[in-house]
Amino acid sequence: MARTSPTEVTGYRNDGVGTAVALVNAVTADAPVPTPEALGALLTSYNFKVDHPLTEDEAEALRLWARRLRPVFAENDEARAVDLLNTVMGEVPMHPHISDHGEGPHLHYGPPGAALVDRVRANTAVGLAFVICEYGAGRLGVCPDAACERVYADISRGPRRRYCSKTCLNRNTVAAYRARRAAPPAGTEPS
Ligand SMILES: [Zn+2]
Ligand SMILES: [Zn+2]
Repeated sequence: MARTSPTEVTGYRNDGVGTAVALVNAVTADAPVPTPEALGALLTSYNFKVDHPLTEDEAEALRLWARRLRPVFAENDEARAVDLLNTVMGEVPMHPHISDHGEGPHLHYGPPGAALVDRVRANTAVGLAFVICEYGAGRLGVCPDAACERVYADISRGPRRRYCSKTCLNRNTVAAYRARRAAPPAGTEPS
């Protein structure tokens, strides 16, 4: 079955949802804290136009943004997740407009000429808003693996996903199977 691509979800040529997940994980889950160079490479890999080496100020603004987005993934209550995202989205300059810079007409959320950090903030916030509105806040989560702090966004059509990756899913499936086998069968507990 075809997967809904993030581009279809957000109507944008950058993958705002994927960028949000990658940024939050790079800053809040994976050591070490990403350098300006690493953040620039991350954004380039998500198709952002990065036309200069990131400054330390820009990197710090992106790290701060990642820490602001993380609670949206961690919140289990949908109404509170909506409140959190609405609050952070309200801090971002928004000026939706159609742009065409050689890629065909597509929607930009920030003001024309917005700086890189604001483009990232607008794009990731709107991406997550689409996930909540289209799929529900339950599709944003933090991996339940005990040794993992990575977040995920699940916009597949299939059964809901709970782990950040196949690696975490497989490790926990095996561990749960071993735990069941190690448990004494019911009714044999010493009295
Ligand atoms: Zn564009
Ligand atoms: Zn994980």
